[in-house]
Amino acid sequence: MTSTKRKPPPPKKPPQARDALRFSFGLRLGLAFVVAVVAYLFTNGANAPNRPAFEVVRIPGKGKGLIAQRDIQQGELLIREKPLFRVPSSTTESPQQLVWKLLQATSAEGQAAFWDLSYVNLPETVTQRDHVALAIFETNAVAAGQQVGIFPGMARLNHGCSSAFNAVYTWRESEQMLYVHALRNISKGQELLTTYTDTKRPRNERRAFLSSHYGFECTCAVCSLDNAGSLASDRRLTSISEFYRYFATWGNGDITGVEAIEAINNIWKLEEEEGYWSERGRLAADAVWIAAAHSDFSAVRSWARLAAKWYTIELGGDSETVLEVVRFAANPKAHTAWNSREPLPVGGPWPSAG
Ligand SMILES: [Zn+2]
Repeated sequence: MTSTKRKPPPPKKPPQARDALRFSFGLRLGLAFVVAVVAYLFTNGANAPNRPAFEVVRIPGKGKGLIAQRDIQQGELLIREKPLFRVPSSTTESPQQLVWKLLQATSAEGQAAFWDLSYVNLPETVTQRDHVALAIFETNAVAAGQQVGIFPGMARLNHGCSSAFNAVYTWRESEQMLYVHALRNISKGQELLTTYTDTKRPRNERRAFLSSHYGFECTCAVCSLDNAGSLASDRRLTSISEFYRYFATWGNGDITGVEAIEAINNIWKLEEEEGYWSERGRLAADAVWIAAAHSDFSAVRSWARLAAKWYTIELGGDSETVLEVVRFAANPKAHTAWNSREPLPVGGPWPSAG
């Protein structure tokens, strides 16, 4: 997981986005022939109720997926998982040989979980095991720090766009673990969905990307909106992306701190309307940076509280990133960026931002 340390707000990209990988990707459905709950891979957190939160089930048209077995609370830890193995995101070695070698070094259980995953973008005539292993890896791997890892448990999460995904994953470098948290309350029987890519773009673009990289036509709740609903959603998502690009120009001094904070508030409002809740911790933390740079003490406090709230939901209350923003809420002057620009009251979150 990225943190906001020692860096001005960069142009946005969801830290979890799978398309950050250098490998090509494809579909997540297909070769699901063994229905086996890979329960040993899931370690529910100490605070989670004893009853398992979800089960792996076969979902018509999607291969397998995760369905809530009980009501799940926003912020609940769903999966904590070690990688089966990780590879550098760029290597001079043949990726095929590298994946094969690392796979052979894993346990028999791990290998079984690996071979149970689906893959795409491999002609049916290609049946060599090392080719199939690379295809499985490319279809299911996610960014894990500076590397790319395979997590058979998390790999069962299917995709939803914008307001349709309800689970987010993050890599904790200090623990070498992937965490998945509930972004919103999830009712018993609902499917747990994460996002494979930055979905803050129009439906046509999202669908084209998902189809070419993962080989499926997205039929999530947002992609299934009627034309009027979809058009309204597309407009919001496009505006959100534009505001993200705009506020990032504060880093070069192209806009004032007031304009940057105003843009962040506009993003927040549009996302509220859209139902897009992900990345709010990071957004508020960027506002903390701007407010600190302009020495706006009370704005740092209020943005830092908001950042702590949303980082807690997405990353877990014990993550280093949460502890860091909590420190800034208590002591705004401790921020790295404090007083690095001209003093200016930039303003806090819009009144209803929660
Ligand atoms: Zn979709």
